Amino acid sequence: MARYSSLVKPASPELLHLKVVRTERLSAHWMRITFGEGDIARFRPMGFDQWFRLFLPLGGDEGLERIPAKANKIFGYLKYLRIPEGVRPVMRNYTVRAYRAAGPSGGAEIDVDFVLHGSGPTAGPASRWAQAATPGESVVIIDEGLGFNPDRGVDRVVLVADETGAPAVAGVCASLPSTATGVAIIEAPSADDVLPFPAPSGIEVRWIVREPEAKPGSAALAALRALSLPDAPFHAFIVGEQSLPTAARRYLVGERGVDKSAVSFVGYWRVGASSPTPKSHTPVTEESHG
Ligand SMILES: Cc1cc2nc3c(=O)[nH]c(=O)nc-3n(C[C@H](O)[C@H](O)[C@H](O)COP(=O)(O)OP(=O)(O)OC[C@H]3O[C@@H](n4cnc5c(N)ncnc54)[C@H](O)[C@@H]3O)c2cc1C
Repeated sequence: MARYSSLVKPASPELLHLKVVRTERLSAHWMRITFGEGDIARFRPMGFDQWFRLFLPLGGDEGLERIPAKANKIFGYLKYLRIPEGVRPVMRNYTVRAYRAAGPSGGAEIDVDFVLHGSGPTAGPASRWAQAATPGESVVIIDEGLGFNPDRGVDRVVLVADETGAPAVAGVCASLPSTATGVAIIEAPSADDVLPFPAPSGIEVRWIVREPEAKPGSAALAALRALSLPDAPFHAFIVGEQSLPTAARRYLVGERGVDKSAVSFVGYWRVGASSPTPKSHTPVTEESHG
C-alpha cells in the first residue's frame, strides 16, 4: 500500500496529535486551516509537496486515541478498520501548504488548504469538516513524505494540477532553487479561487479557470497540450483528479516522447468515489502504470 509514499520517505512517520489553531476562508472554494500545539514540535518539514494522512474525529475525540500506529500501512490500516463505525475517525490525504517554525510569538504551525467541494450530500466528510472547523478541535496526522522527488530534477520543471494539487504546486515552487525554470499550470474552479503564490522568476505560473460544467482537470490538460514544452529535459509533476495525471502522463510519454522516469504523477481524487477505500488509498503512481 502507498508506494507513492516511498518516493521520499518522511523523517518520522509517527502519529502526531494536533489542534486547529485558526481558520481562514480564502475564497469561494478554499478554507485554510492552521494546525499546531500538541505534538507539533515532532513534525519534520520537508518542503515541496509534503503530504500526510489526516484523521478527523467525526465520531468524537475518543476515536483519535484509538488510531493504531502505522494506520497508513496495511496491518495498521486493518486495525484502524476495527475501530467501530461511528467512533472511527475519517482518514483523508492532505498537503502541507506552509510550515512555520516555532518563534518568539509561539509554537510551530502548519497551514493546510482544503478545497470546499459542494454542500450537503455531495460534499465529503473532510470538506464538510473544514467548512465548519473551529479553533481547539483535535486531529491526528501521519507524515507521508514527498511525491515530488527532487532527485528527478529541480532545475527545469513542468507542474500541472487541478485545485486539489494547488497546495502541492505552491509548496514545490517554494522549495525549488531560485534559478529554476519552467511552467506551472493550475486549474481553479472559479476566478475567485485563483490564489497567487511566490515562485522562482523563471517559473511561469498560469492559472486556468475551468467552465462551470467542465470536468475537473480537463482545462489543465488542454493547457498542457497547448504548451511549448522545454527543449531540454525536465521533471514533470502532475496531480489532481485521476483522469488528469493519467491522461497528461500518457500525452507526455506517448505523444511527446518524454522519458517516463521524468514524470511524477498522482491521482489525488476521483469523480464519484470517496477516498480512501483500502484500494484507492494507494495513489496512482508510475510504478502501478509503468
Ligand atoms: C497526496 C494527496 C494530497 C492531497 N492534498 C490535498 C490538499 O492539500 N487539499 C485538498 O483540498 N485536497 C487534497 N487532496 C485531495 C483530497 O484528499 C480529496 O479531495 C478527498 O477526496 C477529499 O475528501 P472528502 O472527505 O472531502 O471527500 P470524499 O469523501 O473523499 O468524496 C466524496 C465525494 O466528493 C467528491 N470529491 C472529492 N474531492 C473533491 C474535490 N476536490 N472536488 C470535487 N469533488 C470532490 C468525490 O468524487 C466523491 O464523490 C490530496 C490527495 C492526495 C492523494
